[in-house]
Amino acid sequence: MFDTLQDRLSSVFKGLRAKGRLTEADIDATMREIRIALLEADVNLGVVKEFVAAVKGRAMEAELSKALNPSQQVIKFVHEELISILGGEARAVRFAKQPPTVIMLAGLQGAGKTTLAGKLARWLKAEKHAPLLVAADLQRPNAVNQLQIVGERAGVHVFAPEPGNGVGDPVDVARRAIAHASAKLYDVVIVDTAGRLGIDEELMQQAADIKAAVRPHETLFVVDAMIGQDAVNTAKAFDEGVGVDGVVLTKLDGDARGGAALSIARVLGKPIMFASSGEALGDFDRFHPDRMASRILG
Ligand code: GDP
Repeated sequence: MFDTLQDRLSSVFKGLRAKGRLTEADIDATMREIRIALLEADVNLGVVKEFVAAVKGRAMEAELSKALNPSQQVIKFVHEELISILGGEARAVRFAKQPPTVIMLAGLQGAGKTTLAGKLARWLKAEKHAPLLVAADLQRPNAVNQLQIVGERAGVHVFAPEPGNGVGDPVDVARRAIAHASAKLYDVVIVDTAGRLGIDEELMQQAADIKAAVRPHETLFVVDAMIGQDAVNTAKAFDEGVGVDGVVLTKLDGDARGGAALSIARVLGKPIMFASSGEALGDFDRFHPDRMASRILG
């Protein structure tokens, strides 16, 4: 992902470096090219406008004519403004003072929630936490089973409704899981919730009910970075319907343009906290805006 954007920006910068002094027209031309590159990468229009205006404003203010290396200066502004669009500082999980910390995962079906639950659990375990996975996705017949497989791979216990008890109530399962975690001294509870193919009332209501029952310290919206502008729209809908604290981008290993996903932090005003880039449990890391900006700028 981002290969085309990376190539486009690197050729813009190459052209810029070739110039000695920079006139206002040079800056305008550069910003036009950057604008096109970002739009072609599917970055949200509002975000692009804001970004271009910010870089241009700084470039005009900087008295580039006096700068030792004007093109380098402009590239630095681009880098810094990109970090800002991506959320600025990396945001760590806020652990509860009184364990267990409850992390709820929400998102559409197929976003990668169950896979992510396993990745997060594995990562937390490596960070010396004692996580418990909770199967509160009782919508899909196979979801509990899938989480159990993921839990086994991560070496993390899964709290699930007892078999043979009918479909079960996800709110009740989630609530009992928290009590179980407290009793058994798990310090982080990861609640995997049901998704659907599209946003609907029932999905939002169920997620909101689970949230009200377990009062998560972090509600993370999990989104497939491959789905383009829908990622931004879905994120907004979840934030309005359920309320989210942070975003997890999945499938960053895909070959979609990906720019939309990069717009989420700014459009939502919520940090991207984790990034997932493959099907293996290890293909996962905290999201660092500065590292992502460096990756995009090459
Ligand atoms: P859920 O419905 O939100 O729980 O989504 P799943 O965790 O079941 O994931 C849906 C599909 O996407 C599965 O086939 C996963 O293996 C796959 N998947 C999840 N995360 C990633 C990722 O980061 N990269 C790739 N390539 N595939 C992923």
